[in-house]
Amino acid sequence: MKEIKVDVLVVGGGPAGLSAAAESSAAGASVLVAEADLHLGGQLVKQSHKFFGSKDEYAGSRGFDIAKLLRDEIFSGDSRVTAMLNTTVTGYYPEERAATLMTGEEQYVTVFPQKIIVANGAQERIIPFPNNDLPGVYGAGAVQTLMNVYGVIPGKKVLMIGAGNIGLIVSYQLLQAGVEVAAVLEGAPQVGGYWVHAAKLRRLGVPILLRHSIKRAFGREVVEGAEITEVGDKFQPVGSPMEVECDTICLAVGLTPSSELLWQAECRMKYVPSLCGYVPFRDPHMRTSNADVWVAGDASGIEEASAAMIEGRIAGLSAAESLGCKIDANRYNVFLARLEQLRAGEISEKIRTGIKAVAEWEGNSNERS
Ligand SMILES: Cc1cc2nc3c(=O)[nH]c(=O)nc-3n(C[C@H](O)[C@H](O)[C@H](O)COP(=O)(O)OP(=O)(O)OC[C@H]3O[C@@H](n4cnc5c(N)ncnc54)[C@H](O)[C@@H]3O)c2cc1C
Repeated sequence: MKEIKVDVLVVGGGPAGLSAAAESSAAGASVLVAEADLHLGGQLVKQSHKFFGSKDEYAGSRGFDIAKLLRDEIFSGDSRVTAMLNTTVTGYYPEERAATLMTGEEQYVTVFPQKIIVANGAQERIIPFPNNDLPGVYGAGAVQTLMNVYGVIPGKKVLMIGAGNIGLIVSYQLLQAGVEVAAVLEGAPQVGGYWVHAAKLRRLGVPILLRHSIKRAFGREVVEGAEITEVGDKFQPVGSPMEVECDTICLAVGLTPSSELLWQAECRMKYVPSLCGYVPFRDPHMRTSNADVWVAGDASGIEEASAAMIEGRIAGLSAAESLGCKIDANRYNVFLARLEQLRAGEISEKIRTGIKAVAEWEGNSNERS
């Protein structure tokens, strides 16, 4: 089996991983980015809408353009970055400080990184209901990939479950692609995403049914419709169910951080509901309780690409510094200030609370030695 030695292994080539690679490489470390997909950019490559947020994090640009800017950055100048595409990091063995990688389906590589930055994003959540395994039931991320990366529509009439930003944005993109959206269902009493995205859908005549959820999907071989119902405070069905005609059911019911590699690396983990799952304890520079391991982006808690990019930069800088690379310490302050600004609003309250819950852990200095 092929073996590779590198200063920093970055798991995942999304906005967090690419930003981390840029900083570690600029500081003088050799970096290997392993990306399971066929292209770098993570979620950004399928995001055709213009981003909100701060100009420093490319607000106003479309996701796929941001991915290109990051790719150009990591391969420019004296780049020390190598990227392996179609390559999944399948395991990390802390005692040997070894990571196992699989390229395609047959090629295996062992990497011995001095440091590892885990930036492998998140997984889509699924909700249980009868027939949720019928062809035609998709996660919203999968629908976005089909349409925006491969130019394929998932069906002709979609029922969207979830009115967070992802459900709203993907519904709008479906309409742009000529697909009918029968309705958007939201179990909560209010829309979870930005008002502006909901308003665009309403203007186009898409009903957003609050306090509603799916009860079952219909169909023998594929989705032919759905039964929906109003729900109460505990999401229990109330009233009489209704039938909706549709050939596709799209679930936009949230994401959960990918945590398997962090568990395997023996990082101290905690379930933090406001960060949407199990996440590692980390210091302000994104270093976990395992001194060789950093985390950044959605793997550290579900947030946004803007935060993922800044966290990636902090992690990349910190990993390089731990290797003895000379860094401009002021960059930490710049990035930390940008993160603070990004999370200052009322809407980020739950993120701030979640991060506080994993900011400190008992005996951290012992675990780090
Ligand atoms: C529909 C939608 C709209 C959004 N709109 C916005 C917006 O307007 N503004 C904003 O700031 N954010 C937005 N976001 C959120 C943003 O896309 C994510 O927060 C961001 O992409 C997280 O970056 P990341 O690098 O942590 O993860 P990702 O972008 O998910 O990248 C992780 C990468 O890791 C790879 N990977 C996973 N496991 C492995 C492994 N074991 N080995 C190797 N590679 C692996 C994946 O293939 C992926 O490329 C949106 C998200 C969605 C789904």
